[in-house]
Amino acid sequence: MRLDGKRILISAAAQGIGRASALACAAEGASVVAVDIAGEGLATLAAGNSAIETHRLDVRDRSAIDALAARLGPLDGLFNCAGFVHHGTILDLSEDDWAFSMDLNVTSMYRMTQAFLPAMLERAGETGSVSILNMASMASSIKGFVNRAAYGTTKAAVIGLTKAVAADFVTRGVRCNALCPGTVDTPSLRGRIASAADPVQAEKDFTARQPMGRLATVSDIAPMVVYLLSDESRFVTGQAMLVDGGVTI
Ligand code: NAD
Repeated sequence: MRLDGKRILISAAAQGIGRASALACAAEGASVVAVDIAGEGLATLAAGNSAIETHRLDVRDRSAIDALAARLGPLDGLFNCAGFVHHGTILDLSEDDWAFSMDLNVTSMYRMTQAFLPAMLERAGETGSVSILNMASMASSIKGFVNRAAYGTTKAAVIGLTKAVAADFVTRGVRCNALCPGTVDTPSLRGRIASAADPVQAEKDFTARQPMGRLATVSDIAPMVVYLLSDESRFVTGQAMLVDGGVTI
């Protein structure tokens, strides 16, 4: 299988893209460490799947991250998936909202990478290949979208961090890429639709910005996650990989 023998940690694994990625990686032979703050979602994810172990982890909590890194030891793959969508222009953005988005979407990846990379470097010395994947978005340095001031800024920073890590460790067997999906039908997207003034119109608007005329499903995204965490992508690093259904054609 494509991920045989690999130990892969995935954040935000209780639902959405992170959950689908955990299941897809386990199905390809990986031993998956699924982390999230949502205990219930983690419990249903692990139920009946011996390839998935779960830990409650807040990726905003430095000391908890460091403690888990010390307990787990080396990983072959790290997928930093956690992130949050703030809705609004720069004029709607309080300092607190800005700081929260920066912390959850960007600083968490700095914390996670700093904590797990040293042991991953040792692992790369043995296997020649470890992979870090950071969740960005098409809404980033790639393309601007209305009401995504904080979100687009943070996801652009994710791409910058990804390229920096890729450049610094390219000679040491560490690859680092960013994933840039289009609009994906996940629980948080359903929440954004439900909380809009006109939910029916909001769903139409999200769908209208996808040229294929439909939202992505998590199964459209998970294969790219498997690819980027596997050795099939061994010559791919520092890239912002779009899976956007043609938005950026
Ligand atoms: P989601 O937003 O539905 O779920 C996010 C998960 O993250 C939840 O299980 C939540 O409990 C967890 N989480 C939140 N804060 C956390 C924290 N501090 N520590 C650990 N876990 C935490 O999932 P999604 O929509 O698949 O989004 C996942 C990632 O994909 C995000 O980074 C998002 O920005 C990105 N993304 C989503 C879309 C989309 O359209 N859904 C598009 C592009 C990128």
